[in-house]
Amino acid sequence: MVPRGRAPANLEPSRMLRYVTAGTGSPRLSLARAGACHIALVEGEGLLFDCGPGATLRLFQGGFCSQSVGHVFLTHHHYDHMADLGHFALTRWDHTPHPEPLHVYGPPGTAGIARTLFGPQGVYWADSRIRTEHPMGRGIFAARGGTPPRPKPDVRAHDVAHGLAAEGTGWRVLAGPASHAQPIAECYSYRLDVPERSIVYSGDTGVCPEMVDFARGADTLVHMCCFFDDALERLGMVSSVAGPSLAGRVAAGAGVRKLVLTHPQSEEMDTPEGIRRAIADAARHFDGEIFFAEDLMEV
Ligand SMILES: [Zn+2]
Repeated sequence: MVPRGRAPANLEPSRMLRYVTAGTGSPRLSLARAGACHIALVEGEGLLFDCGPGATLRLFQGGFCSQSVGHVFLTHHHYDHMADLGHFALTRWDHTPHPEPLHVYGPPGTAGIARTLFGPQGVYWADSRIRTEHPMGRGIFAARGGTPPRPKPDVRAHDVAHGLAAEGTGWRVLAGPASHAQPIAECYSYRLDVPERSIVYSGDTGVCPEMVDFARGADTLVHMCCFFDDALERLGMVSSVAGPSLAGRVAAGAGVRKLVLTHPQSEEMDTPEGIRRAIADAARHFDGEIFFAEDLMEV
């Protein structure tokens, strides 16, 4: 991907940390909401949180250069959070003559998924061989300014546990609790700490008391809000997914300044009236700032 897309007007490049909810959708198809994907830029270094369907195009639309991203943090392995990983990693590799390795972190199973996609005999193995060994691939590589030999995609995946997942210059990312798809699959939240600010992304979660401690002291909590509370109760899903009241309670308990709701799965919620209602429901529990995320919104 090249930085050719038009940046939205609300971006403020002068800030040290920018956190943009690039994709705010759910499994429900929406042209307005790409799959879950957030990008944090710390002094220009990109960290991606989830990589759901359409994320690569949405990042391009936002003017984000995929080459700036060296680290991808997956909250869990539902397709609405990782279906674009192949597209993102390969676009990043294919359009850059000599890209840096891409590190991918996530719950147990992440390394296996990366091997299945990018490893020898994996899903994209033939693609990688064609682009690195076939005269057509070598010609395109040379046309883009590459100098042979062309390396294959270098995706380094890491299964991580709760605690420090990765750190770099001026930032660290902690993996934390989420209650969603266990015991079948582990699911995480993430906390990004930079010197001036911390942002917690809940991933997908229902009631998870440990989330309050994990988010304590953070500036901003980006929290799932997929159905209204009465629907969650009726469908028996409160331990796995969140509505506005839970998001508000966690924000209040953690003492954050700002709550950002995301991932509306309910069609009823994803309307101007529904969003107003969700914010009002959250505000019954939390008296700080509340926003409902849109794609490419800086928070
Ligand atoms: Zn989801």
